Amino acid sequence: MNPYVVENYKKVEARVTAACLRAGRARSEVTLIAVSKTKPAEDIQALIEQGVTNFGENKVQEMCTKEETLQKGLSWHMIGHLQRNKVKYLMGKTCLIHSVDSLRLAQEIQKEAAKAGIICPVLVEINIGNEESKGGIDINEAETLARQIAELPNLKLNGLMCIAPFVDDAEESREHFRRMREKRDELAALAIPGTDIRELSMGMTGDFEVAIEEGATLVRVGTAIFGERDYGQNG
Ligand SMILES: *Cc1c(COP(=O)(O)O)cnc(C)c1O
Repeated sequence: MNPYVVENYKKVEARVTAACLRAGRARSEVTLIAVSKTKPAEDIQALIEQGVTNFGENKVQEMCTKEETLQKGLSWHMIGHLQRNKVKYLMGKTCLIHSVDSLRLAQEIQKEAAKAGIICPVLVEINIGNEESKGGIDINEAETLARQIAELPNLKLNGLMCIAPFVDDAEESREHFRRMREKRDELAALAIPGTDIRELSMGMTGDFEVAIEEGATLVRVGTAIFGERDYGQNG
């Protein structure tokens, strides 16, 4: 158990509020997702007691275990790279899959969501820095994939997600976030039937304030809330 989790969370929350104020946005326009991957249930429980309900995980098995163990009524965001053979375990457990980056993955979600009788909200992940090490599609492919997802009746496309390249100064990410926002606006303006494009999932510990200033609606913050992660010897 990390004794600083609540204190850290309050500091992050204050920084989110300040960034909204600077940007002339309402605090309610931005959802703070506490990224709890690798962290124990007690740390999550401490935040639940503060009223936090949105948590992010990047491993299917870990999310499912936490979803089953902790209280109901929480919102679990799948933010990590998703293998097609794991999709079935997520159905009904995640409120939003942030990391759809291929038609094949979208089709697998369609199959499993139909089987489960649900509509699964998704975001398309953009590889905004064109980094080989990262998932996501080229921003120029976003409209094509959006139109393909729109044809899948059990998926609801809600917006875009990105992980900005790692930099020392978050200001360097501003241009990436701005392009994300422009692309989101452009796709939303197409009003593709079957989609409801409004979300922008961007901003992590190192850059969430800049992301909020540039229009993020979902920020994913792990380290600043839960402390450094220990991936153990398999790290
Ligand atoms: C781990 C992770 C985060 C949180 O990163 P921090 O730098 O610890 O805030 C956000 N988004 C994704 C996709 C992640 O995998």
